[in-house]
Amino acid sequence: MNVQKRDEMTSAVHEDGCACGVFRFRATGKPKRVGMCHCMTCRQVHGSAFGAYAIYPRGDVTMSGRLSTWHSSEEGRRHFCPVCGSVAYMEFVSRDEIDLPIGAFDETDLFEPDYELWCRHREPWLPRGARPEYDEERPH
Ligand SMILES: [Zn+2]
Ligand SMILES: [Zn+2]
Repeated sequence: MNVQKRDEMTSAVHEDGCACGVFRFRATGKPKRVGMCHCMTCRQVHGSAFGAYAIYPRGDVTMSGRLSTWHSSEEGRRHFCPVCGSVAYMEFVSRDEIDLPIGAFDETDLFEPDYELWCRHREPWLPRGARPEYDEERPH
């Protein structure tokens, strides 16, 4: 029983997608880390107070459907559904990682953030001290 439970943890498959269903993901296993980001770009693309992402190795994520892409910086790419406008994922082209927004997953209570970035833009009404906080980026 315990062995089976451990297998489920390492090989768990979680699915997500955009609001209209044009785009779908499958993420296998556990994310490398989970982060919240208060930067102005995350705020604007999500239309929300912050972005929150489960960050997976690129090879652990498969995708189907079509997306539009905005080059948000030299290395940053923001992918979104061209039909419903949902944030699909973000990536830095130099990193072997895919940042999936936790709000896109089909299930709740999958992930809890490990840290918060760009706290100098955080809304003052959000709770503080729940996890490591960085004024801007965190060191990689
Ligand atoms: Zn959509
Ligand atoms: Zn951000």
